[in-house]
Amino acid sequence: MASTKRSFQAEVSKLLNIVAHSLYSEREVFLRELISNAADACDKLRYLALTDDTLVSGDTNFNIKISVDQKNKTLTISDNGIGMNENELDENLGTIARSGTGAFVESLSGDESKDVGLIGQFGVGFYSAFMVAEKVDVITRKAGEQDAWTWSSDGLGEYTVEKASKEDRGSSITLYLKKDAKEFLEDLRLRTIVKAYSDHISIPIVLVKDKEEESLNEASAIWTRQKKDITQDQYTEFYRHVSSGYDEPWMTSHWRAEGRFDYSALLFVPSKRPFDLFHPDRKHRVKLYVKKVFITDDCEGLVPEYLRFVKGIIDCEDLPLNVSRELLQKNQMLTSISTAVTKRVLNELKKKAEKKPEEYAEFWENFGAVLKEGLYGIPNEHKNSLLELVRFKSSTRDDLVSLKDYLAGMKDGQENIYYITGESQEAIKNSPHLEGFAAKGIEVLLLSDPIDDFWISSMFEGYEDKKFSSVTKGSAELENVEDAKDKGAKDKKGQKKSKKTDVSLLIASIKLTLGESVKDVKESIRLTDSACCLVADEGDMDMNLERILRQHQQVADAAPRVLEINPTHPLIKGLVKKVKDGETDPVLEDAALLLFDQAKIMDGEPVKDVKAFAQRMSKVMELSLQA
Ligand code: ADP
Ligand code: MG
Repeated sequence: MASTKRSFQAEVSKLLNIVAHSLYSEREVFLRELISNAADACDKLRYLALTDDTLVSGDTNFNIKISVDQKNKTLTISDNGIGMNENELDENLGTIARSGTGAFVESLSGDESKDVGLIGQFGVGFYSAFMVAEKVDVITRKAGEQDAWTWSSDGLGEYTVEKASKEDRGSSITLYLKKDAKEFLEDLRLRTIVKAYSDHISIPIVLVKDKEEESLNEASAIWTRQKKDITQDQYTEFYRHVSSGYDEPWMTSHWRAEGRFDYSALLFVPSKRPFDLFHPDRKHRVKLYVKKVFITDDCEGLVPEYLRFVKGIIDCEDLPLNVSRELLQKNQMLTSISTAVTKRVLNELKKKAEKKPEEYAEFWENFGAVLKEGLYGIPNEHKNSLLELVRFKSSTRDDLVSLKDYLAGMKDGQENIYYITGESQEAIKNSPHLEGFAAKGIEVLLLSDPIDDFWISSMFEGYEDKKFSSVTKGSAELENVEDAKDKGAKDKKGQKKSKKTDVSLLIASIKLTLGESVKDVKESIRLTDSACCLVADEGDMDMNLERILRQHQQVADAAPRVLEINPTHPLIKGLVKKVKDGETDPVLEDAALLLFDQAKIMDGEPVKDVKAFAQRMSKVMELSLQA
């Protein structure tokens, strides 16, 4: 049969272009990628053979073979794993199938110098072969099928697939090495690379030389070894194998549990945030093994969603080997193991948070927003542990604070844990809603992750008897706390009065002008510098939450808000005088509308009638020039 020419998916071409031209300092990682794939292929077949042993008949010893052809300058990596059929070749070696990766590659700029760094965030997998090869042939035959296929490409936009003959199942990848990559024909070099990157692989890796075979690795599952016999480098390489990542693990957690159920776990938290962390298809990356046999990397519920950044393996000794993937979901034992694993991971995070707060801050930057998802939705038994792990930016400190820190810094008379939510730190840091709190030295937690509005407004039970309270909502209970500057002043209420003016007539006049656009107009105790602000009435939805829901078309319109005015502000004082004079001044009407629009702008809300706003603004400026 003639070979057919096929084009790579556009993203693959882009990736290949970067790979081939990158001055990758560690080109040798291609070998790790190919060995990693070969090991995965063996793992997959071993699992299928549990229920259909004809798939491995005649050859049950899984292995990976590396051989060199000095004459033709080729390096071949062969496995007797699951292999691929024609369709799978197209899917796996013609496109980028991994969820999120395609979109990520699409977003690359095309500027090689920038992209290379980004590519380093994840393994380029099979395509890394083109860092060292000018041509790659894959001869493969799927276990249980008769046809074999050759996939061949020079990595320049196209590949061919044609029928081939191959006696045994599995894949054989031959690299025609580039002129400057002949070092990978040398025994010693290959040996060193395998030792450095692939020693943890549990399938034997064999170097074939003149018909002699030499085993290069220990071929025992790394998690079954004693902790003391494993170096951090070995852990790191295993992490890279299971995660397709290139970074260092931020946390490595290896333990064996004996008791009701026996299991081993070797789990990692990455030091870099994976680019697809918030991709809707993103699942956890923990592989399930049973008695050292790989079962699945897609076991729903093995670790909770909010720990989906955790990577690694869990090996259960008590599950039957032939457990079907469907049965896994409702398996009581797995649920218990998942609970135990979650507890353990949260506990280790807590230890890190206490012992190494700076390192924890980096973790928090990467994964805090994900962890907080655990505080929202289905109540879970780990909620209290999660609350201990949450960190916040705050209005009074530069370092991240915990809820414990917050409680320790509360003022005498302060009842609640105050917070503000918004789209960005910049937007909320300068919010007028914080003024009164700043004047009293009360700390306000600054929350700007989209998830924050959801979890915090569902925390009805509060934390250690203190309720969470938004500074943009209801009446700020500030009277009970002394001013930061006049500590010791006796007459808390009296001292402010002197500066205040009676604003009731002004309020009535503003209400008349604004009508239905506001829910109410009130005198503010939360403002010190700004003239006005909008707040949500007690019992109404928090403003930022409403904004998020509106963006997702979950609620139609903004509910009317309460406009608060600051009786100590010169502008308000001036307006009060105008009202008292009994004039029915159009200036007052303009002022009311301008105050309202101003408050909206400060909240990052659009002004309804931009033209009218601009006209009023100009009018006011003109007047001030005349004065
Ligand atoms: P990843 O390993 O992260 O999925 P790769 O680019 O390394 O990404 O490989 C892409 C896919 O090609 C694999 O998921 C697998 O389905 C298939 N594949 C690669 N090498 C082999 C092999 N030796 N045997 C069987 N399938 C393979
Ligand atoms: Mg791979």
